[in-house]
Amino acid sequence: MEMLAVPAFVLDKERRVIIWNRACERLTGVAAEEVLGTRDHWQSFYQEARPTLADLVVQDRGDELDSLYPQVAKSCHVAGQLGAESWCDMPRFGQRRYLAVDAIPILGEHGRLEAVVQTLRDITDEKAAQVALEQLATLDGLTGLANRRCFDNTLGAEWSRALRQQQPLSLLMVDVDNFKAYNDANGHLGGDECLKRIAIAVSSEMRANDLVARYGGEEFAVILPNQSLKGAAIVAERIRCRVERLKVPNGRGDNEHVTVSIGAATAIASSDTSACQLVATADAALYRAKHMGRNRISLPATEADIIASARADSHSAINAG
Ligand code: GH3
Ligand code: MG
Ligand code: MG
Repeated sequence: MEMLAVPAFVLDKERRVIIWNRACERLTGVAAEEVLGTRDHWQSFYQEARPTLADLVVQDRGDELDSLYPQVAKSCHVAGQLGAESWCDMPRFGQRRYLAVDAIPILGEHGRLEAVVQTLRDITDEKAAQVALEQLATLDGLTGLANRRCFDNTLGAEWSRALRQQQPLSLLMVDVDNFKAYNDANGHLGGDECLKRIAIAVSSEMRANDLVARYGGEEFAVILPNQSLKGAAIVAERIRCRVERLKVPNGRGDNEHVTVSIGAATAIASSDTSACQLVATADAALYRAKHMGRNRISLPATEADIIASARADSHSAINAG
């Protein structure tokens, strides 16, 4: 065990360290003589006291595996083995590492537990690569906002949550006005810069649980959980004002700036409606905003009075803020 390339330590049935191999010394920065004969092995991995996987096996506490290792936990109850992955503090180095660990019981005569071997693998680099890939798969390359795929997944999850909690779910579809003309005047790269600025402007109006995504081209979508239509209209009007205040010249006239049109929709989720209908309703509202002359927000038909009051509320909020 001493010469094994795999970091490993062994606890006896009193949970005292009886082996702490060289590879484990290198992984933790803790010498064998510091831990042998003690129950201090956890200090090599964590800032605060908590059982290691081997402790759980010795104490037959496998049922705590999921709560202690929420990221990845696997138990093989037949053999009494446990496996898990988790971030460890590694106090000696002051730098977190992501470890894959397995704890295997050593049974003596009559199947009595004699000791537990814990092996550890440092998979920090693999984890970092996985996190980077996940981010690439969910983010839009130009704006850094959530991409369409992330939007679809999030909307589905929020719809289910709204259904469970019977809370309203609101959606805004934000489309840049006359953007084709902007591109024609400023070139595609100029258009890209404009989209980035609009993305920042839209994001800056969001609360922690809201999601802004690039829905496609020059279109953004905003998911507003637990938001009524009136609340959504206020956010929409703020976004519209915020983009207008960027004062990005659109080249159509001396005092003309890039603007957005926004369609809003709200649903109380139910089993006979779907998130697709919410998107369709917000889209239809956006279409009306375009039709009515652009640079405006629109709600599902017959809600014109809410627009007016949202505008009033938004102005007072902006003035107050
Ligand atoms: P409307 O007010 O009706 O929305 O008019 P519009 O010109 O904005 O709409 P249209 O759908 O005719 O044109 C959208 C333009 O957005 C055309 C397309 O070249 C441009 N666009 C889409 N994606 C990008 C992008 O990633 N970068 C740039 N620069 N332009 C883009
Ligand atoms: Mg457009
Ligand atoms: Mg469009």
